[in-house]
Amino acid sequence: MDSEEQGVCMNCGGDHATVFLVTIVSGVKESRRLCMKCHVQGLSGSPIHEAMKQARCCFCGGQAVVPDSLANIANGPETVPVFLCLSCFAESNTVATEKLRILESESDSLPSSEQKKRLREITEQIETHMRRWVIQRDN
Ligand SMILES: [Zn+2]
Ligand SMILES: [Zn+2]
Repeated sequence: MDSEEQGVCMNCGGDHATVFLVTIVSGVKESRRLCMKCHVQGLSGSPIHEAMKQARCCFCGGQAVVPDSLANIANGPETVPVFLCLSCFAESNTVATEKLRILESESDSLPSSEQKKRLREITEQIETHMRRWVIQRDN
């Protein structure tokens, strides 16, 4: 879709960008790739970072390290933030990146209401995947 290199952090230029963030502001979709370090630094001091310190992973109950950005996209910014531990984040991010890449390649021709609907479907698919994955991981 564009010339942006896969896997390179858009903030520091490091080649370990594992965080793929999608935001929709006024119907305009933006995607960003960041390494975990820049992602966590970007959160530092924000209200969501404070909430995260007390939070537990929504899938396995482990120590939360990142907010689940997909839940916000699908349900809107008023959503109570949902958090993930590092291990669940890595897995859900892998699944999400793959699905979002497919969506991205199709979404240029879609109206934003349709894009949001697709994102919500993707979020549900990831949730289902994660619940199964956590059970397998912990057994
Ligand atoms: Zn970085
Ligand atoms: Zn977890």
